[in-house]
Amino acid sequence: GRTPVTVIGLGMMGSALADAFLNAGHRTTVWNRSADKADALVAKGAVRAASAAEAVSASPLIVVCVLDYEAVHEILGPAGGRLAGRTLVNLTNGKPEQARKEAKWANEQGANYLDGGIMAVPQMIAGPEAFLLYSGSPEAFETYRRELDVLGAGKYLGEDAGLAALYDLALLTTAYGLIGGFFHAVALVGTEKVEAAAFTALVIPWLQAMIASLPSQAQALDANNHTTDVSSLNINKVGFVNLIEASQEQGVSTELVAPIQALVNQAVADGYGADGLTRLVELLKKPQLL
Ligand code: NDP
Repeated sequence: GRTPVTVIGLGMMGSALADAFLNAGHRTTVWNRSADKADALVAKGAVRAASAAEAVSASPLIVVCVLDYEAVHEILGPAGGRLAGRTLVNLTNGKPEQARKEAKWANEQGANYLDGGIMAVPQMIAGPEAFLLYSGSPEAFETYRRELDVLGAGKYLGEDAGLAALYDLALLTTAYGLIGGFFHAVALVGTEKVEAAAFTALVIPWLQAMIASLPSQAQALDANNHTTDVSSLNINKVGFVNLIEASQEQGVSTELVAPIQALVNQAVADGYGADGLTRLVELLKKPQLL
């Protein structure tokens, strides 16, 4: 039969995770601090645990997905002894250091620990585009990769439990950067009453072309070779003045784009004006830049 699974935390994401296990035919035990969030899942066949400790005891595989690591501690601290011999998969968003501490704690309780990052919104869970990052116990990943693949494609990053959080936050950054640029652009054209929907039809092919350039940028970064035949920092510096001034003249805040301008200007001031944009990564590899 299928492995019984426990899901602790039934917010938007935890509910989607529990639902996916249920749909895949797993006996799914659920617990949430506010018990009513389990109702819909219980109506679909999930088992309601009366306490977090009971939830832990119900399955060899325990998935926890709550607000933050503090909540994880509040929930699992009292149930710690029950984790012995089980596998804890923590899909709560956090920092690498938090994940490493959590792994140590779980191991002290006799549990195998996997930390995870969910690269999906709840509606994508169990769908073709969802993927999840894991790091920590290789044994835990090997043992339960089939079960975890129910949620989305699992990618194991290595034994250091902090890696999933590191990659997760890094990937989040790429999305925030993209969305930040999109928002600035929509605000800018919106000053002339251009509707976001119409403008977005231009954004998509443009960004697709930009995304297609990432592998060659990655090559340049790995080779630490920032020479360019695409566009120099000098020319980007000039373009940025236009972007900033046009935004100001149109009455749009420059908060989202000004930091990138500052970085470009710094690189030019440092003598890298002939280099391509990838040079900026070298500047970023310092704790305090400007
Ligand atoms: P929700 O706000 O919907 O749910 C938060 C959950 O945390 C609830 O179950 C809540 O319980 C619980 N919780 C908060 N504080 C405590 C506490 N002190 N003790 C016990 N339980 C607590 O958030 P999401 O489900 O959206 O997010 C959960 C995790 O999933 C986060 O780490 C998030 O970053 C991650 N994630 C979310 C994504 C998304 O698109 N939603 C995407 C990728 C990752 P209660 O119901 O009792 O308040």
